Amino acid sequence: MMRGALSDITKAVGHTPIVKLNKVTEGLDSEIYVKCEYLNPGGSHKDRVALNMIRDAEAAGLKPGGTIVEATSGNTGAALAMIAAIKGYKCVFVMPDKMSQEKISSLRAFGARVVVCPTAVEPDDPRSYYQVAKRLSEETPNCFYANQYHNPSNPGAHFLSTGPEIWEQCGHELDVFVAGMGTGGTISGSGKFLKQKKPDIRLVGVDPVGSLYYDYVKTQRITKPFSYKVEGIGEDFFPSTMNLSILDDIVRVDDKECFLTTRDLVRLEGLFVGGSGGAAVAGAIKYARQSGRKENILVLLPDSASKYISKIFNDDWMRENGFLEEEKGLGTVRDLL
Ligand code: PMP
Repeated sequence: MMRGALSDITKAVGHTPIVKLNKVTEGLDSEIYVKCEYLNPGGSHKDRVALNMIRDAEAAGLKPGGTIVEATSGNTGAALAMIAAIKGYKCVFVMPDKMSQEKISSLRAFGARVVVCPTAVEPDDPRSYYQVAKRLSEETPNCFYANQYHNPSNPGAHFLSTGPEIWEQCGHELDVFVAGMGTGGTISGSGKFLKQKKPDIRLVGVDPVGSLYYDYVKTQRITKPFSYKVEGIGEDFFPSTMNLSILDDIVRVDDKECFLTTRDLVRLEGLFVGGSGGAAVAGAIKYARQSGRKENILVLLPDSASKYISKIFNDDWMRENGFLEEEKGLGTVRDLL
């Protein structure tokens, strides 16, 4: 084998760069940095999770030729499908119907089967994507149900991989780590590692309007969730992979803030990121404005803009949804936050 080559694409997972934001942060005392997880080979931070979940499943007896089933909004699916292609597993993915066509098509490109379920049903409804995934995994022989919402290997991946990498890149200079929360694997796993190294590091979760997390953290009340457009963050139930008690603060963002920030990150910083990355940066800017401290803040950018071209980067879709105001021209987020 050639000396400079990797033995397969999974060896390219991780080691993502950390980059300083220069323009969207103008006027802030704090400095905001981003970790570009969208540069992973499968397109997101979920590459780390899929690698760790499959490694743990193999240790527990999963054999090549078996089937991997998962309820996924796309990124975990892409990561599992990429690794399955190399290792010889079949994949079946179940996802809600609000997800981008790009995400569905890219899973099918890896040879996976995709089952699309209604978004507007309760999580325990038999038609919900969680329940359909569970049933399929029970009916399929020689099957591994990745179950990222309840699999400790998900936060475990970030504890073993993302957290140590961030520590190595930022060390004692990091004051605040900010991430959007879906399964919570990213913030719970990386956060646990970072707090072990530096107990006074602050962990800030970002939650979209409509999700359960924010009200629960602030008031201990479970409010009725409602749907929103930003993909991959916020939940309508409490996954066991989400350790809310590790959070020092939580910030709420709405769809418009998420999407205008996303567009600014691409246009002003050259970072080709998706909506949940915009959400996390919008949350970090709000946090920095409120905190009144001068801190080094690191924000995780989960996936790439390429998955949202027909939505966030399509002016018609943005206008139809009330996220772009004609009179403001470019539609930049700075007046909004
Ligand atoms: N952004 C995107 C695009 C995602 O797919 C996810 C995972 N649902 C997240 C953010 C949140 O990451 P985590 O599940 O680790 O909380």
